[in-house]
Amino acid sequence: MEQRLRESGLKATRQRVAILRCLEQAGGEALTAEELFEQLNPTTGVDRSTVYRCLEALENHHLVERMEHRGGACYCIAGKNHRHLLMCVRCHKTVPIHSCPLHAMEESIGKDTGFVMLSHTLEMTGICPDCAAKK
Ligand SMILES: [Zn+2]
Ligand SMILES: [Zn+2]
Repeated sequence: MEQRLRESGLKATRQRVAILRCLEQAGGEALTAEELFEQLNPTTGVDRSTVYRCLEALENHHLVERMEHRGGACYCIAGKNHRHLLMCVRCHKTVPIHSCPLHAMEESIGKDTGFVMLSHTLEMTGICPDCAAKK
């Protein structure tokens, strides 16, 4: 983890390492800054603004991916496997979607507009089987 930080040109601070570990342990689930703060504060004493600052730095260096959800942001480890999340609108559980249909589209949009395409976000929502069963 420390090495990954250094390779991307970031100093491997204790807080950054802790955040990356936390996200990795979430196993592909995206966490909000608030959830990270709640998990890390008891063990590391990190404060909210540090969590936000770290996330920003990690995002700028493409170590974490930020996803928008209803005006809020959540984060997950940026993997080699580009993917998106499907989120349940009732319990906010997230499920990773491993295929992305947008890469081909990005390429042709890039050609048409002359843009160097960097990234995209895709927000998908639904109602998970658990919530659907509860009614
Ligand atoms: Zn649900
Ligand atoms: Zn995609």
